[in-house]
Amino acid sequence: MKAVVIGGVAGGMSFAARARRLAEDAEIVVLERDPYVSYANCGLPYHLGDEIPDRDALILHTPQSLARSLALDVRTGHEALAIDPVERTILVRDRATGRQYHEAYDALVLSTGAAPVIPPVPGVGLPSVRVLRTVPDVDALRALVDRAARHALVVGAGFIGLEATEALRRRGLAVTLVELAAQVLPSLDPEMARSIELELLGAGVEVRLATSLASLREAGDGTVAAELSDGSQVLADLVLLAAGVRPETSLAAAAGLALNARGALLVDQHLRTSVPSIYGVGDAIEVVDAVCGAPVSVPLAGPASRQGRAAADHLFGRGGQRSPVLGTAIVRVFGTVAATTGRSEKALRSAGVAHHAVHLHPNNHAGYFPGARPLHLKLLFAPDGRVLGAQATGGEGTDKRIDVIATAIRARMTVGDLADLELAYAPPFGSAKDPVNLAGFIASNLLAEDLSVWRGGELADMDPGAVLLDVRSAAEFSSGHLPGALNIPHTELRGRLGEIARDCPVLVYCASGFRSYLALRVMRQSGWTQVRSLSGGLSTLQLELPGLALELGEPAATLAAALR
Ligand code: FAD
Repeated sequence: MKAVVIGGVAGGMSFAARARRLAEDAEIVVLERDPYVSYANCGLPYHLGDEIPDRDALILHTPQSLARSLALDVRTGHEALAIDPVERTILVRDRATGRQYHEAYDALVLSTGAAPVIPPVPGVGLPSVRVLRTVPDVDALRALVDRAARHALVVGAGFIGLEATEALRRRGLAVTLVELAAQVLPSLDPEMARSIELELLGAGVEVRLATSLASLREAGDGTVAAELSDGSQVLADLVLLAAGVRPETSLAAAAGLALNARGALLVDQHLRTSVPSIYGVGDAIEVVDAVCGAPVSVPLAGPASRQGRAAADHLFGRGGQRSPVLGTAIVRVFGTVAATTGRSEKALRSAGVAHHAVHLHPNNHAGYFPGARPLHLKLLFAPDGRVLGAQATGGEGTDKRIDVIATAIRARMTVGDLADLELAYAPPFGSAKDPVNLAGFIASNLLAEDLSVWRGGELADMDPGAVLLDVRSAAEFSSGHLPGALNIPHTELRGRLGEIARDCPVLVYCASGFRSYLALRVMRQSGWTQVRSLSGGLSTLQLELPGLALELGEPAATLAAALR
């Protein structure tokens, strides 16, 4: 068996290494057009920011080390130019010499990755306008920074754009971040992404949302003048284009392999393309979304690596199935972490999937243990309780909550199962009721109709007869409350129920959604039927409605009492 791999990074090298472990006698050739194989592309932003100062730390292997340890024939600087699926040959060009040759194969693996989306605007070819995908890319960016660059423009506030923004700030540059969507991290729901936007603003980044790049031009001394869609101009010493990626499948298209409308390679259960002797893995392929079953593209390292392994398993008779993909992802943005798994609420909405959402803000570990910090968690689930997705922002421990929920989604668990999960606990790490358990409790309460929630969007067309009830303390109320709200602290509620009309909707709120839930339970059991609690409290509301103006001053009830 001779297996040839095109693309020697995540998916391709994962295939090659697994193939060797399964078939000692196979001939395995890896063709990689760039100078490096098996390098840590996920580490590139941290090298840009000098957190990983040693460039060599990113280069995990060389063709020589791979030949020694795995007997692989790895050819860097060798670009596949064309595939002949009938003859089972590849036309290859050695970039160093220009020599072209044909390489035969029995099985071919395409792990050609993704290409950055380059906005179709004038000036993208200027020398100070770069992308970040490869080691040479990071070398070029570092060279621009080292040339006393002072101002960077980053186009795109997705994962790579945000990592690069932090890196450039760390290197002392002023950064303007431009994003076409009305929020950073467009894969998250807007209220969850808002805390990352605040983190960026706090770190001195100029964030320009709902704005796109219109043109770029040389403005002298290597400076680039960028014109934005709102007519404003930004002068930058370097421009980083991080506007997303598209599947790199030009070779596959020319060979006649089946692609979807976005150009992603179509593969079957065993990662075989429309030509069964050719496998496709990684960023180049279309995958199946684990939540909705829809075809999607998920350009992440974990799925690429596992697909490479699965393709090798299939080729060498070990089954090897492609798995549905959750899109579990995480990013650190200065002092805050944002993580997501499964479907966002906006994705569920646009797919027409019935769902509920709850928000909560528990501490990441026991509040009495020093350093506790709120974790902002959103859980999405189906009316039958199946977990559909989750997003979290916060500090330490954000990753583990999302990883636990990712595992729960794969296991098709329900919110009741989350409530019942037994998770590691000691005060420095969590709480006896972990945030994941709490999310399960709240969601289970909602499904059992022991809790009903309201969301910020309802304020705009609120029933004029509804009562807005603020159950925080009088001091919290006077420091800022929703206009027109009545304040009855939840500790006084049982004695003051007579102040609240029984036959109209009551929208209760507090800071995080906990005290309003307690109040709701008191009122429901005292005969109020139309009581709902604000999901995530004011903490979520202020992220959902950033322009929301709170009223200051004395609690209405206290004032009324004073006037009597
Ligand atoms: P790649 O790893 O991109 O490899 C494709 C290779 O194919 C390339 O080296 C390319 O040169 C080669 N190639 C293409 N065409 C040819 C040809 N004709 N001939 C020869 N060679 C060819 N994912 C995460 O999950 N977490 C992260 O933190 C993360 N951070 C990232 C940071 C950066 C800066 C980048 C760029 C990506 C990051 N990713 C991250 C995404 C992750 O790296 C990719 O999803 C993953 O590498 C995809 O693997 P792949 O094998 O499909 O493609």
